[in-house]
Amino acid sequence: MAQILDGKRVRDEILAGLAPRIQTLKRKPGLAVVLVGDNPASHVYVSSKVKTCLELGMHSEKLTPPASIATGALLDIVHDLNSNADIDGILVQMPLPAGIDSQRVLDAIAPEKDVDGFHPVNVGNLSIGRPGPRPCTPSGVMELLRRYQIPLAGKHAVVAGRSDIVGKPMAMLLLQANATVTICHSKTADLEAECRRADILVGAIGRPAMLTRAHMKPGAVMIDVGINEVRDREQAAAIFGEGSDKMSAFDKRGSVLVGDMHPYHAAEVSSFWTPVPGGVGPLTIAMLMSNTVDAAERRQ
Ligand code: NDP
Repeated sequence: MAQILDGKRVRDEILAGLAPRIQTLKRKPGLAVVLVGDNPASHVYVSSKVKTCLELGMHSEKLTPPASIATGALLDIVHDLNSNADIDGILVQMPLPAGIDSQRVLDAIAPEKDVDGFHPVNVGNLSIGRPGPRPCTPSGVMELLRRYQIPLAGKHAVVAGRSDIVGKPMAMLLLQANATVTICHSKTADLEAECRRADILVGAIGRPAMLTRAHMKPGAVMIDVGINEVRDREQAAAIFGEGSDKMSAFDKRGSVLVGDMHPYHAAEVSSFWTPVPGGVGPLTIAMLMSNTVDAAERRQ
């Protein structure tokens, strides 16, 4: 039976490791989160980021301009934060409302305060192996693999998904750890065959339970980044089966979270796997905190 890679445990370890570093800094590390408009999911994400900051004894500022803000005014907010000495990290919560030029906003963040690691300078730093903030979700996956001592050098890693925030940086980090890396996407000719070659398979597609045992090599490591809210009862029952605990939860809440991998297949076939929720998800905020503390140490 496969072993669970416990993201909550690793998150707690990462945060515990940050506490003494925060205490030795002269000034509290500061994170500014800019939340434009009132997207409910974004509000939940931002609240938990701010809460984690406060629990760690960090300084945090939340700016909440309305959805009607113009790109120019949002750029002014970012420029102010760039020159604010109390702020080490700036995070502009995505997605931004339609009409705002997201790329211009992200490009305006000072690279040394770009704790999401999305600025082109930091994408370049990652690509050529220079230090700098790395995107939080893929670097969280690397921490998980490292702390469970899963060997990567010489292994074949397949990353399903090529987004700028997950798939591409994930592939780059695995490459730097000396894995042989294949990146798959929606135009990949034979996704099953590519995925079945993986010693380490990363699902970052955004399609519930799309990767099944047909995509999984027995004994491989399954890293499921996908977080998909399934609201269709039939779809949920097809994945979890009637009478399962997950379906009881669905009937109470009207939805259930499903990764990109079929959870039963991943648990049966793999050596190690990340459940959803509780696998990769908790690591993203931990790595955001870690990037902010790194930035504060560099600036101080
Ligand atoms: P995007 O939608 O930006 O990217 C999805 C990628 O999957 C694209 O590269 C797309 O290919 C590829 N893809 C889509 N359909 C298929 C298919 N049928 N076969 C093969 N490839 C396919 O998603 P994100 O990268 O932002 O997120 C991926 C998942 O990870 C989502 O479920 C998201 O919720 C989750 N996530 C979780 C986080 C966490 O904290 N754990 C953080 C961020 C995301 P193409 O490029 O060709 O279109």
